[in-house]
Amino acid sequence: MTLKDKTAVVTGSTSGIGLAIARGFAAEGANIVINGFGKPEDIERERAAIESEFGVKAVHSPADMSKGAEIGGMIELAEKTFGSVDVLVNNAGIQFVSPIEEFPPEKWEQIIAINLSSAFYAMHHAIPLMKARKWGRIINTASAHSLVASPFKSAYVSAKHGIAGLTKTAALEVATFGVTVNCISPGYVWTPLVENQIPDTMKARGLTKEQVINDVLLHAQPTKQFVTVDQVAALAVFLCSDAASQITGTNISMDGGWTAQ
Ligand code: NAD
Repeated sequence: MTLKDKTAVVTGSTSGIGLAIARGFAAEGANIVINGFGKPEDIERERAAIESEFGVKAVHSPADMSKGAEIGGMIELAEKTFGSVDVLVNNAGIQFVSPIEEFPPEKWEQIIAINLSSAFYAMHHAIPLMKARKWGRIINTASAHSLVASPFKSAYVSAKHGIAGLTKTAALEVATFGVTVNCISPGYVWTPLVENQIPDTMKARGLTKEQVINDVLLHAQPTKQFVTVDQVAALAVFLCSDAASQITGTNISMDGGWTAQ
């Protein structure tokens, strides 16, 4: 198993892509810190399932990724509970869809904080632990929107382009310490994040739900299929393997050909 006795912190892992990545790492033997919001009973069910299905330990950090101090607390929880942070996945993210002139400034600030600044804070606290052990894997969930834009997603596109730059910078800083830093850039993955933005896109563009799915979302994806959360998780697991030790500073697309256009 690739990650036996290692510790993985996955932000935004109570749902969607993050949950699939956390489960993928647990299947490889890692102890897990899950993070994110949700109903306590749902979070506890997912946490307990990780332990029982994969025979590892899992704890939940309720840290709010818009608050730097709480992010430090999450890394501290991982270190105190499991003794290290070997793998960090900066995955928490939210979306808001609106023309720039109507975009609420507080939504801009929130998206930049959760989708970009949180990765800085988590790395700020985790990199010293990884450098000390001369091994680490940092994976940032970026997006096809780290490479190309779509209208009405100004904050999201800005944050995702930012995380691609942060990834390259961090990779260069830790390259000689056995620590790799990469981003995964999915196209549209069928998760609550995508489902929840459909009503706003319907409103912003005056379209029906079916039109948003086929003409807006899958319009961009030449394969005309959504990426699955398990496909993203499998790539994250690969990036933690020895075979991937020379892959660093990259932005790996998994977008059904979207950004090839
Ligand atoms: P999701 O809504 O299913 O999950 C988001 C997770 O982030 C949840 O666990 C939620 O509780 C958590 N979260 C939100 N705000 C938080 C905060 N302030 N503090 C801590 N946790 C918080 O979304 P998803 O689709 O799985 O998205 C995960 C990541 O993948 C995001 O960064 C998103 O931008 C990126 N992404 C998604 C898609 C897609 O099509 N779904 C495509 C490309 C990139």
